[in-house]
Amino acid sequence: MLKVNQKHIAIIGGGAAGFFAAINCKINYPNYNVVIYEKSSKVLSKVKISGGGRCNVANATFSISELAKHYPRGQKPLKKVFSLFNTKHTIEWFEKRGVQLITQEDRCIFPKSQSSQTIIDCFLNECKRLDISIKQNYQLIGITKNTNSFELQFKNLAPIYADKVIITIGGQPKIKSLQVIEKVGHTIISPVPSLFTFNMPNESITNLMGIVVESVQVRIQSTKLIEEGSLLITHWGMSGPAILKLSAWGARILEEKQYQFKVQINWLKDFNFNGLTNKLLSEIDKFKNKKIHNQKLVRLPSRLWDFLLVKINLNVNKKWGELSKKEFHRLLNVLQNDVYQVSGKTTFKEEFVTCGGVSLNEVDFNTMQSKIVKGLYFAGEVLDVDGITGGFNFQNAWSTAFVAAQLK
Ligand SMILES: Cc1cc2nc3c(=O)[nH]c(=O)nc-3n(C[C@H](O)[C@H](O)[C@H](O)COP(=O)(O)OP(=O)(O)OC[C@H]3O[C@@H](n4cnc5c(N)ncnc54)[C@H](O)[C@@H]3O)c2cc1C
Repeated sequence: MLKVNQKHIAIIGGGAAGFFAAINCKINYPNYNVVIYEKSSKVLSKVKISGGGRCNVANATFSISELAKHYPRGQKPLKKVFSLFNTKHTIEWFEKRGVQLITQEDRCIFPKSQSSQTIIDCFLNECKRLDISIKQNYQLIGITKNTNSFELQFKNLAPIYADKVIITIGGQPKIKSLQVIEKVGHTIISPVPSLFTFNMPNESITNLMGIVVESVQVRIQSTKLIEEGSLLITHWGMSGPAILKLSAWGARILEEKQYQFKVQINWLKDFNFNGLTNKLLSEIDKFKNKKIHNQKLVRLPSRLWDFLLVKINLNVNKKWGELSKKEFHRLLNVLQNDVYQVSGKTTFKEEFVTCGGVSLNEVDFNTMQSKIVKGLYFAGEVLDVDGITGGFNFQNAWSTAFVAAQLK
C-alpha cells in the first residue's frame, strides 16, 4: 500500500531484468514503494524455460573487456555497466541469497540444483521479504511525462502515477510492441531474430543428423562473418555453437539476405593449407596399398568422412596410391572449403533472443537513464543489446537492471 508522500517506482515487465531491478531498487531505497507491473498472468516465464530448464545465469568470463566481446550489439556501452556489475557480482549476489552455483567446463554457470526454479524462488522470496508488490495482467500501453511524475496507462485499467519508471519489457519480435517507448521519443531499432540455426532443405548432409564435429571454422560467403566452435548436423541443417555465434553476429546481414546464403566449412581448421597438404600426402604414402573406403586419413567422424568422399565423387574402391592429382585437390578442397546452401532459419520456441530494441545512443549507460525522458530507465533485452549463448543474455539483464536500480 502506498503511504502518503512515499515515492512510487514502477518496474514495467516481470522478467529477469524486472525482478533484478525491483529487488535492488528496494534494497537501495527501502522507503520507496516498488511495484512490478507484468503484462501476462505469469512472471519470470523465460527464466523458467531458460537453459533447457536449468537457467544458465552467467558465464565465468571475469575480464570486463572479454565479457563485453560476447555481445554483437551493445559491446562498447556495456563496458561501463560491467565495470559496476559483472560476473563476479552476479555470483556474489546469488550466493549471498543462498543460491549455490556451479561452473561447467565450458564456463557456463548454472544453479547447483540444475533447476531454474531455484532462481525464481530466490526472486520471489526476496520480493516477499522486501515487500515488493507484483501486479499481473498489467500491460503498459502508454506513458505520459508530467512535470514531476509519470502517468502510466495500462490496458483496460485506470492510469497509475509513478515518480520513476524502469522499463524491462524484454525483447519483442514485433516493433509494434515497442511503440509505447517510441511514443515518448525514443528510436527503436527494428527487431530481428538473433541466435538461430541454419536450414538446408536441399543438402543431403542432413542425413548425418546427430553428428557433432568438435572444432570447425564456418564462414558465410560474400560477408566477413566467420566463427569457430563445434558444429551439430541436424535433420534440418546445421546448429551448434559455431552456427549460433554466426547467427548472432550476422543477425542483420542474414535478415537482409532473407536467410539465403552459402556457408563454407573448414572441417579441419587446426591445419593450414600446407599443413593439411603434407598430412594428407604422408598418410596417403603410408596407406597407399589400402582401399580408400577402408582407410580414413584424418580425424573426422567416419560417417562424415564417407559422406565427403561421396560428395567429391571419389571411387572408393581404388587404393589410396591410385589417387589422381585432381582427386587429391578435390579432397583437400572439401576438407577445408566445403560449401552448403542455406535456405531459411530455425529459431527456438519463440525467437531465442531478439536483436534490436531501444537505440543505445539515447541511453546513458552510466545510469541506464533515458537521455530523452528524465526519470525513465531501461534494462534487459528491451535495449538493442544481445549476447551470444552461454549466460551472456542474463548477465546483460542483471547488470543493466542493477545499474538502473540505483535511480541515478
Ligand atoms: C528458450 C529460451 C532460453 C534461454 N536461455 C537462456 C540462458 O540459459 N541464459 C541466458 O543468458 N539467456 C537465455 N535466454 C535469453 C534470456 O531469457 C533473455 O535475454 C532474458 O530473459 C531477458 O530478460 P528481460 O527481463 O529483459 O526480458 P524477459 O525475460 O522477456 O521479460 C520481459 C517481461 O516483460 C513483460 N512485458 C512485455 N511487454 C509488456 C508490457 N507492455 N507491459 C508489461 N509487461 C510487459 C513480458 O511478459 C515479460 O514477462 C533464453 C531465451 C529463451 C527464449
